[in-house]
Amino acid sequence: MYALAVHGGAAARGQAGERHAPRQDYHTGLAAALELGQRILEQHGCALDAVEAAVALLEDNPLFNAGRGAVLTFAGTVELDASIMDGSTLRAGAVAQLRRVSNPIRLARRVLERSPHVFLVGDGAEAYAAETGMTLVSNEYFITPARMQQLAVLQQRRAQAGQPARAEVRQPQREQQGRVSPESQPPLGTVGAVARDHQGRLAAATSTGGTAGQRVGRVGDSPVIGAGTYADDQCCAVSTTGHGEAFLRTVLAHDIAARVCYRGDALAVAVERALEERLAVIGGRGGVIAVDRHGEIVTRHNAGQMYYGYLASNREMHVNA
Ligand code: ASP
Repeated sequence: MYALAVHGGAAARGQAGERHAPRQDYHTGLAAALELGQRILEQHGCALDAVEAAVALLEDNPLFNAGRGAVLTFAGTVELDASIMDGSTLRAGAVAQLRRVSNPIRLARRVLERSPHVFLVGDGAEAYAAETGMTLVSNEYFITPARMQQLAVLQQRRAQAGQPARAEVRQPQREQQGRVSPESQPPLGTVGAVARDHQGRLAAATSTGGTAGQRVGRVGDSPVIGAGTYADDQCCAVSTTGHGEAFLRTVLAHDIAARVCYRGDALAVAVERALEERLAVIGGRGGVIAVDRHGEIVTRHNAGQMYYGYLASNREMHVNA
């Protein structure tokens, strides 16, 4: 059997990053990604191909906060991060601070497959993209009017609150549990996918533009193996979305895998406990999609809303957007 889940980000309701198109459009985008991944899995393609293809399609969709249409930094530029992991071999590829690679997840796959490294960033990552035959685009390619407007609203809010336009986003602290500033929360739209293929291989992939109005050079959890993405055929595949700093501090994707592997927790229990006992404790908000070696799919969040969808060889497509 095969199983596939995708997400399109998690966020609190009523913030600057909330959706900027009809809900149905997000639904259509997620369904298209699921259908593409399903075609690959049905034809006995591998889980890694399915998650890469699903995420690349969402990167091309300007509604989502990944690839074209990603959120802007406070400088009005786009910086992209992505990672992918193969649960059969524990090989992984990650890229961050890309400004000119149209599909960061495809570059992450190249890092996984063709390079001796796991993580490439910035100019070096883009040089690697060019060396391996990828065409670089200008940063303007990624910038959409909706994201420019979102940044303008954010800057206006900061000005009204008496904060400098380049205000630092404070990290959630333990003592601030449940009181994370809405500004420190991510917008909807980061994308991810997890899959189990016919042969029981697991894979996970995540791609993002980070948080709206973020400091230039800021990198969240999405490209960090163990925090935003993790896959191990022995336990599960996980892709996260939400407040990146909190996911980094709790190494959440690996935390879930470790609960499944070492404690023998069922996937649903592992995800629930990781979100409650680790993420929420430091005031982190976000969500997770995960699939285990039996093809069990779990989606869960504590953010207010999360866009996701899933299907399996024995399960109809379901999309929540
Ligand atoms: N986790 C991402 C980051 O912090 C943002 C998101 O998932 O929306 O960069």
